[in-house]
Amino acid sequence: MNSTDISQETKSETLLDEGDHDRFSHYARKADIVESAVTGKPIVALCGKVWVPDRNPDRFPLCPKCKEIYAQKKAKENR
Ligand SMILES: [Zn+2]
Repeated sequence: MNSTDISQETKSETLLDEGDHDRFSHYARKADIVESAVTGKPIVALCGKVWVPDRNPDRFPLCPKCKEIYAQKKAKENR
């Protein structure tokens, strides 16, 4: 038996588009968001992420972490 096997390189597909992992809408203090809209400076979101809010936050899915923290905050406030 003299078969030459050409082993194909298994392509590991990563579904992460570069730069796209930041494409989330985060929650942050409203005052910070307003300020960022004026200055263009990044702000700190509820989840701790530093990002620049998009003018159209509806374009991106809501950050699950921010959503969770926001829900917890609200729950505490209503107590
Ligand atoms: Zn977030």
